[in-house]
Amino acid sequence: MAYLTKAPRGTADILPDESYKLRFIEKTTGDAAALFGFKEIRTPVFEHTELFQRGVGETTDVVQKEMYTFADGGGRSVTLRPEGTAGTARAFLEHGLFNEPLPQKYYYHTSCYRYEKPQAGRLREFHQFGVESFGTGEPAQDAEIISLAKHIFDLFGLTGIRLELNSIGCPACRADFQKALRTYFEGYKAELCETCLGRLERNPMRILDCKSPVCAEIAKGAPKVLDFLCEECETHFAAVKKYLDAMHIEYTVNPTIVRGLDYYTKTVFEFVSDSIGAQGTVCGGGRYDGLVEELGGTSTPACGFGMGLERLKLLLEAEGVTFPEEKRTEIYIAPAKAEYSFEALRLTDELRRDGVIALTDVSARSLKAQMKFANKKNALFTLVLGDSEIETARAKAKNMDTGEETEVDLTRLNEEITGLLVHAMFGADNGGSALSKLTLLDGGKN
Ligand code: ATP
Ligand code: MG
Repeated sequence: MAYLTKAPRGTADILPDESYKLRFIEKTTGDAAALFGFKEIRTPVFEHTELFQRGVGETTDVVQKEMYTFADGGGRSVTLRPEGTAGTARAFLEHGLFNEPLPQKYYYHTSCYRYEKPQAGRLREFHQFGVESFGTGEPAQDAEIISLAKHIFDLFGLTGIRLELNSIGCPACRADFQKALRTYFEGYKAELCETCLGRLERNPMRILDCKSPVCAEIAKGAPKVLDFLCEECETHFAAVKKYLDAMHIEYTVNPTIVRGLDYYTKTVFEFVSDSIGAQGTVCGGGRYDGLVEELGGTSTPACGFGMGLERLKLLLEAEGVTFPEEKRTEIYIAPAKAEYSFEALRLTDELRRDGVIALTDVSARSLKAQMKFANKKNALFTLVLGDSEIETARAKAKNMDTGEETEVDLTRLNEEITGLLVHAMFGADNGGSALSKLTLLDGGKN
């Protein structure tokens, strides 16, 4: 039964000593998206399997070998989402959001599921921050979403991350490219991996995305997609670059980027770092003008990106970015006798209503054990409720950092404690009311 105390391979528990980091990452990315006019969307964790087969693409690794697919109680085939775009596009169609002012811009934080070989930066359950824009085919939109990703990396102060850019054209120009690729790779049939031999038949462009070193080496000499772009795709790509130049966003054109998913057209891009090991792609995205139509809607141009939160966290740690500390326990109220635990819990409850992080005894501990516990919890103040405190409604709040004790009136404890907290935070000579300072503090909470 050992497996009962071991999470499935490729999943990770996020414990309190880490969860605050992800909360900070989620808040920062979500706030940035809002600045750019994206609204949050939430879609189900599972969808009809066919949505991903069509939306991600039959020839992709994701659909061919990575999906968590099962039959539900009613015998329908459902799949845990391997990415966020297909579900978002489905919701866009289902709710007629194409009737709203375009472009419709959405962001999300979601868990994704892929049956892959777990390693650093590669899990079976991972999390993405993603954005999608539906309804404009203009290159300005491609550039705007790239600038959002860049904006986020800048907000975190990250420096070791570069933008790689490519265009993979539209179905029209890609047909010639695929033909040229097939001819090229036919010459290396003996060396290509098993999977790539299959790709050679179905979708030779996928070979460019192969992670095997042998295939990657062969791919280096392959025809370049940029040489096959039609005039429209060429103009689009030039304009995307011009917008990026205008925003002083640096990039390198990397003709080997084709992205893992089938629905991409024209612009594709990745933000890559060398400081987090082999899985260095933190963010990947591009344009997918064919997807909405593929799902049965009227042709609607779109683009977006997905950012892996685990990889982003690894990168933040690698670059020594400091995460805002969680707020410490502000006060511990210790009933000296069991009969005072009612008053202790009432006072604690009142304090919490004013936003004070307050603890009291819920374990029927002795006073001594409570003080030990308060210490372990690093409480800033402690306050003991004994006979005289209950009788006189006056008690001493002890600052555990300085040892200083202040007498407080229990009938107006909230005011007294918020005053002491502000004093402890800003020193004696703070201008303005205690409450305005507290609001200020709250603003910093995440
Ligand atoms: P990779 O080439 O690393 O397999 P991908 O092309 O499959 O990535 P996308 O489908 O574009 O990745 O997903 C967007 C982002 O999600 C990736 O850039 C990465 O940061 C993250 N990601 C993808 N797969 C995983 C995974 N198995 N574990 C953790 N993060 C992942
Ligand atoms: Mg992958």
